Amino acid sequence: MGPLLEVKNLKKHFSVNKGSIFNKNVGTLKAVDDVSFEVYKGETLGLVGESGCGKSTAGRCILRLIEPTEGEISFEGRDLRALNAKDIRRARKDLQMVFQDPYASLNPRMKVRDIISEPILLHGITRGREVQNRVAKLLDVVGLAPYHADRYAHEFSGGQRQRIGIARALAVEPKLVVCDEPVSALDVSIQAQVINLMEDLQREFDLTFIFIAHDLSVVHHISDRVAVMYLGRVVEIAGYSELYKNSQHPYTKALLSAIPVANPKLKKERIVLKGDVMSPIDLPPGCNFHNRCPHAAAVCKETAPVLKDIGNGHKVACHMI
Ligand code: SF4
Repeated sequence: MGPLLEVKNLKKHFSVNKGSIFNKNVGTLKAVDDVSFEVYKGETLGLVGESGCGKSTAGRCILRLIEPTEGEISFEGRDLRALNAKDIRRARKDLQMVFQDPYASLNPRMKVRDIISEPILLHGITRGREVQNRVAKLLDVVGLAPYHADRYAHEFSGGQRQRIGIARALAVEPKLVVCDEPVSALDVSIQAQVINLMEDLQREFDLTFIFIAHDLSVVHHISDRVAVMYLGRVVEIAGYSELYKNSQHPYTKALLSAIPVANPKLKKERIVLKGDVMSPIDLPPGCNFHNRCPHAAAVCKETAPVLKDIGNGHKVACHMI
């Protein structure tokens, strides 16, 4: 079976302007630069990297919440980039997003009932009394009580708000949900609850997830495969166990070394990267990681490595592999 979602050579570049009168172009920020990956039905693809690596921008481009600069996005074989504004709104019934900040993503002036029923009505999922039955069912599914429907978003904790955001995303029975750092604004104790809830919902509703996070420990349990991004590019992609046991890219190795181990007897050496992430504006040629990489050679400063298939569904972008 082919992939549910196929992203090919996706680019999102922003021009950087300066000056209030002439607004002169002073450079280009390549937030997403030639990113390709597939997502298969029923799986979770973790999209991982430091802040500013382009993972959230890539997620928003897929849903066409922002317009990509170049590239192909195909969902169930349909070219999403070819859809007009009306058709893309219709397509969003199948493609939903759970946002990072549960405090900012819910309208504080709306009752929970209206927040969840809005997309149901918009997409004509059901009408009349059935809408309220559906809201009650969705609240139940995400672990909230029926009386919560008559409260406002500001009356809830961060974890509860994220549950409301998830209920709203599920209200239209989507096929693919892009979860944009859905737990990073939550306390660690609540993070596990929300991730467990998402896993349960995935099984129950046959959902496919792209789960965006800034470290591998968050996507650890939920991801079937993981794509690691660094400064706008995917540097490594593999099944989670393959990546965990056989990571090849120096950046992935550093990320993996930062995952805490539960067993205090197991000694794990933390790889601390030297140097800072380069400015994403007008990046020099070559590998974007070369100024921090312990294995960098002359070729790394001249030519950008492309993703190479090394077997077992594992791809790496590094000249030394
Ligand atoms: Fe390091 Fe070169 Fe590989 Fe980039 S291409 S990760 S700089 S060895």
